[in-house]
Amino acid sequence: MMKRSDDLQEILRRIDHRGYPAYKDTAGAYQFGSYILSIDHVQGDPFASPSKVSIHIDGKKAGFPADMIQETYTRTALADALIRRFGKEVEQYSHKAKGSGKSGLISLSRPGQEVLARSACEISPDTGNLIVRLEIGFPANGRTINAGELIKILFRFLPQCVERSLFYRNLDHKHLTAVKELAQDQHYIRQQLKERGLAAFVADGAVLPRESGISDRPMRNAVRFHTPASMETVMELPNAGKITGMGIPRGVTLIVGGGYHGKSTLLKALERGVYNHIAGDGREYVITDDSAVKIRAEDGRSIKHTDISMFINGLPNGKDTKAFMTEDASGSTSQAANVIEAMEAGTHLFLIDEDTSATNFMIRDELMARVVHQDMEPITPFIDRVEELYERYGISTVLVAGSCGSYFYKADHVIQMFQYEPAEITEMAKKEAERFSDYAKDKPNPKNSEAPVFDRKFASDQKAARNDRMKVKGMGKDAVSIDKDTIELRYVEQLVDSEQTMALGYMVKYARQKLFDGKKDLRTVAGMLEKIVEEKGLGAVCEGRYLPCNLAVPRIQEIYACLNRCRALRI
Ligand code: ADP
Ligand code: MG
Repeated sequence: MMKRSDDLQEILRRIDHRGYPAYKDTAGAYQFGSYILSIDHVQGDPFASPSKVSIHIDGKKAGFPADMIQETYTRTALADALIRRFGKEVEQYSHKAKGSGKSGLISLSRPGQEVLARSACEISPDTGNLIVRLEIGFPANGRTINAGELIKILFRFLPQCVERSLFYRNLDHKHLTAVKELAQDQHYIRQQLKERGLAAFVADGAVLPRESGISDRPMRNAVRFHTPASMETVMELPNAGKITGMGIPRGVTLIVGGGYHGKSTLLKALERGVYNHIAGDGREYVITDDSAVKIRAEDGRSIKHTDISMFINGLPNGKDTKAFMTEDASGSTSQAANVIEAMEAGTHLFLIDEDTSATNFMIRDELMARVVHQDMEPITPFIDRVEELYERYGISTVLVAGSCGSYFYKADHVIQMFQYEPAEITEMAKKEAERFSDYAKDKPNPKNSEAPVFDRKFASDQKAARNDRMKVKGMGKDAVSIDKDTIELRYVEQLVDSEQTMALGYMVKYARQKLFDGKKDLRTVAGMLEKIVEEKGLGAVCEGRYLPCNLAVPRIQEIYACLNRCRALRI
């Protein structure tokens, strides 16, 4: 039978003033009126990572309308709104209970501007059952249990927070309806991109720049986005009605313009457009093909048997570029690998900024081509493949190129940013390009490359499979380590939240322990990881223990990116 809150109270009275480890007795689930409080993991001492607690509410009692939870995108948006709301509530009570170390801390996931599926709040699509996960520092004086303070938290603070913010009847219905409607409108635009053959959509009035390099909030008094007439696209949103904006067609699109006129800011917004943003962000209706991958140079990364022969051949050291390996890639080889791996991950759109590209990967100018003969140059630059990538593989490119005119010959559309406003200059740019003789114009494209082969099969890792104490440790957004193997993710720029990074850590650990077997190729393993999480939730890759409250679901593209940067994998 389910224990009751009185039972918990009794345990707490009994262990008061005892040594900290006695707190372990509180682990378990307790019926608290309209919800169940589950103490999933008790910290070892007051200075350790806080205890893990979850709140379970029956769907009927929570009472959220069916149209908020049936579809994945509205359900994710609702869960996100509840995390934010509940987070605000508990924040007021954090450290109101006192003691040593982390005593009295109450903490919950803090979502940024993007709406992501998180372990902090899961809602069942079938029953509407709700689980909210948080951390609480169980109070102590020194290492002596202060049960009275924990009673305060669990019997006074928490019930109020739960009551106020996790039941539909007590919430602001208008706000939650707006959350649902925004998610529906965003979903609609995503569908429309596919139907209309668009790579991305940027609404008029959008605010693209951010407050600062360290703040992802919208810039105040920014110049709002304004669509050039020739690219105007109308969207009839199911809830917000008619909006206009810039539809970027599939194909090759160039963003040009003088320095500081907002090119990179536009590209950044497109990178983030693979996610939905919260109301007030400014990028609510900046929606990008959700398979889009930012491609950049990434010196120093490791590359594992990747077929980069589409771009690189005949290296001076005789290295095989059909199964290229290195622990320390150069600018151009890293960028080539990033392209090929993104193809393997199933992208339909590359986003590239010359600011973060290896020049020799992107172009070779006429003079250089004359001086250093083709046969002596291992690199076939991206410019020679960009059309092939679209025509043969259906992968579009949006490229910021402020300094290199050669791409004019390849572009289907050219957008010029001027004082943060776009203008379409395709015709003018093409005409100018015609008059100007250039390497890229005179030179025929090299013959089509051999299609890259995606058959990498990583070996099973017996040591990892037997090791049930493999530790996953996140270092913010930038890296995650699994035991001693650190996976650098700083330049995987569409990873937007440290909780995604953590989740990737658990996924890679799971893959190393259970999936890689020398027979399944990387595609199969990445696909399995995505499917397991989609169907069973993040808990399925963290099995054997409680589900951490600080995980967010990454895209399949980032699952690939993380596996591809895992130095511990062996063929
Ligand atoms: P570019 O890549 O063309 O050199 P950036 O995109 O880096 O230019 O933008 C230069 C600066 O202008 C940045 O500090 C950015 O925050 C700011 N900025 C970009 N877009 C806008 C805008 N719409 N309104 C106001 N400031 C902007
Ligand atoms: Mg720039």
